[in-house]
Amino acid sequence: MNESDAGLPGIHKKLVPDPRTVSSSKATEQHLLFENEEVFRTIFHNANDAIFLWEVHLGKPSILLEANGVAARSLGYNIHEMPGLKFSDISTGIPEDINSAAPQLTTDYRGTFEATHRARDGRNFPVEVSSHVFQLGEKLVALSISRDISIRKKAEQTLTGLYNREKELRQALETEIGKRIDFTRSLVHELKTPLTPLIASGEALLEILEGEVELRLAGNIYRGALNLERRINDLLDFARGEMGVLKVSRQQLQVTPLLLDLAAEISPQFDRKHQSLELVLADRIPPVMADEDRLRQILLNLLTNAAKFTPRGGQITLAAQVSGKMLRLSVSDTGRGISAAEQVNIFQPYYRVERDADPNDGMGIGLALCKMLVTLQGGEIWFNSEKGQGSIFYFTLPLANKMENVK
Ligand code: ADP
Repeated sequence: MNESDAGLPGIHKKLVPDPRTVSSSKATEQHLLFENEEVFRTIFHNANDAIFLWEVHLGKPSILLEANGVAARSLGYNIHEMPGLKFSDISTGIPEDINSAAPQLTTDYRGTFEATHRARDGRNFPVEVSSHVFQLGEKLVALSISRDISIRKKAEQTLTGLYNREKELRQALETEIGKRIDFTRSLVHELKTPLTPLIASGEALLEILEGEVELRLAGNIYRGALNLERRINDLLDFARGEMGVLKVSRQQLQVTPLLLDLAAEISPQFDRKHQSLELVLADRIPPVMADEDRLRQILLNLLTNAAKFTPRGGQITLAAQVSGKMLRLSVSDTGRGISAAEQVNIFQPYYRVERDADPNDGMGIGLALCKMLVTLQGGEIWFNSEKGQGSIFYFTLPLANKMENVK
């Protein structure tokens, strides 16, 4: 007897028509029933899921009437050994539904639940069971379809594991960031505290002293202290940017007065190297959306670099002009320029061209910080340069009245 010939004990008897005892219409009916059963058996035995037909005894274990080939194979039985098995023979952790829900198992119970099948060799595997209880003749039966969900469960476990790992890493990172913020803050405090009286004293000395030499020395102290303070602030901002906590607060800003003011403030730096600073500003520059302090910080970095990398007598130009929805600012110099090989890394933090690696001068974060600050304000930064031909650094800021069009 092959698998599909296995009967459903006590329930389905093969309906074999006897042409001697039935009329022709009766014979057709019998034939249809016979065909229906064949169809049913084909589906039953060719299904991809394990199918079980249980006889349900209220308050007592259900007894297996029949199972299909998939069910038998997955549990390690021969299909003929299956009838008569109890639900507990092939399952562990029987779900509440089947047994304790007995009172509602009377008829038309439908439910889906997860259970664990136990194969004959003791191997367990998770399944999702869809069960339907109904009256079949005298018997109360449950038709259960079990789907092996080992792969899904494994994927769920892997996913949960990954999620938990990601959560742990995120928490560790947040703690680390918190520690770094605290450390950077106290470092900056430690460095800036002694600077404050130095700057104030330098400024006072410049007002009191008269002799040329004394004034020069006091000026050196004052400018040196200011320069150091600016670098410490840059370092703190850069550290904030790397931790993702650097903030800009943008508002409508008139750029022309700011540029004039900045040029006046920085011009002594250029005078000392006999460099000239030229301003090329378009008429009536509309307001931009920007953070004033951050804009000054960007420009100071670019202008300081221009002064630093341009020889005595060179020319530096600060320009601003509207370009579409943006204001485009630029700082150009007639300095030594940047070679193609060096250009690739210029916005990388801590990058300094080898020959500029004077430990007392610059940490290689100025341009990386400029990029962070420009990006945070909705602009872009780039440059053109050629070795020996000077450099021009551009950056853009959104115009205030065009803001709604700026992403
Ligand atoms: P730092 O703060 O040390 O100046 P930056 O990030 O501002 O660092 O600049 C990185 C490097 O880019 C500098 O060390 C220098 O080699 C090069 N550089 C920046 N601006 C200019 C410029 N205007 N002309 C030539 N080289 C420049």
